[in-house]
Amino acid sequence: MKIDRIVLTHVRVPLVEPFRISSGEVTAKDGIIVAIESDGLTGYGEASPMAGSFYSSDTPESVWNDLAIALVPSVLRNPPTLVAELQEILNRAGGSPFARAGIETPFWDLEGQRMGKPLWELLGGRNSPVESGLAVGIYPTIDRMLGVIDRCMREGYRRIKIKIQPGWDLVPLEAVRSRFPDIPLMVDANCAYTQKDVPHLKHLDRFGLTMIEQPLPKNDLEGHAKLQKEIQTPVCLDESADDIQSIQQAIRFGACRIVNIKIQRVGGLANAKAIHDLCQANNIPVWAGTMPELGIGGVQTLHLATLENFRFPTDVESSSRWFTEDIVEPPLQVTNGLLRVAPGPGNGHRVNAEAIRRWTIREAEFTAG
Ligand SMILES: [Mg+2]
Repeated sequence: MKIDRIVLTHVRVPLVEPFRISSGEVTAKDGIIVAIESDGLTGYGEASPMAGSFYSSDTPESVWNDLAIALVPSVLRNPPTLVAELQEILNRAGGSPFARAGIETPFWDLEGQRMGKPLWELLGGRNSPVESGLAVGIYPTIDRMLGVIDRCMREGYRRIKIKIQPGWDLVPLEAVRSRFPDIPLMVDANCAYTQKDVPHLKHLDRFGLTMIEQPLPKNDLEGHAKLQKEIQTPVCLDESADDIQSIQQAIRFGACRIVNIKIQRVGGLANAKAIHDLCQANNIPVWAGTMPELGIGGVQTLHLATLENFRFPTDVESSSRWFTEDIVEPPLQVTNGLLRVAPGPGNGHRVNAEAIRRWTIREAEFTAG
């Protein structure tokens, strides 16, 4: 494949409300849009680390450098013919999973456009809508949290996920459970507890949760296994589940019954699909998480989430849930709790160039030779 040009664009879109989890807060969404131009087609991807580095050690700046210094020059030097050849090139170049997701995913979009096939078909998924779940952060008061949930639930989200941390768990759960007695409900702790908290976490069982996501630190697989023996609520891994090896180990330990797959955390679509397949072979259902990404990453997550073993609603939500403006056309819209990708080859949704221009803070272009 001949690559004519690669353009990196760092955009920063204001959020409609601050996003707060157990480890920090952001008020704007940073994303690095990667556009790869080849023979009159342009494939788009997104690298989407969380600003403030409280989800992982990666920041928009470190990911920009990985792309600009290592990954982009490397694919320009060795352009792959097919997506399948890309992994080896990326393995040699290094770079964080976020940067790899940014450079890998546009090749899938390009391949889909060249073959006239939507991304879900390339991945082996289905042409079906994806159930969407509402995710809410940590709020100063229960009333503020319920206000956001009430407003958002008009779109019919199929489950509610609340972020928890020590001191903000049983009381907000009680409030959500009494307002929505039947809705599938789950919690995400983003590593906020330790093994000392196992007796406390057992109280979560009374809420009939579909899962507790990443209660303990990333490297504490043994702790997750101990916790899973003690509680009925299924344990789901997110931060711990960053590659095939750690997931194999988690399954061996009995550290989880469910895995959250994020394209960004695992370094692209090929790795995400491989993790899906591994989990399926081990009877571990998965679901598709988000950073949350802007629309390009969101759309690619929806294509991925049509694979068979994605068995719970995704965290991808309406564009207007988090972003004052999204960068895809059409924007994502949850209707009756469901999201559909736009028809068409590759990603389906096209980029909104004007919106990208409006929110650009840095841009760079690269050509071969
Ligand atoms: Mg999570």
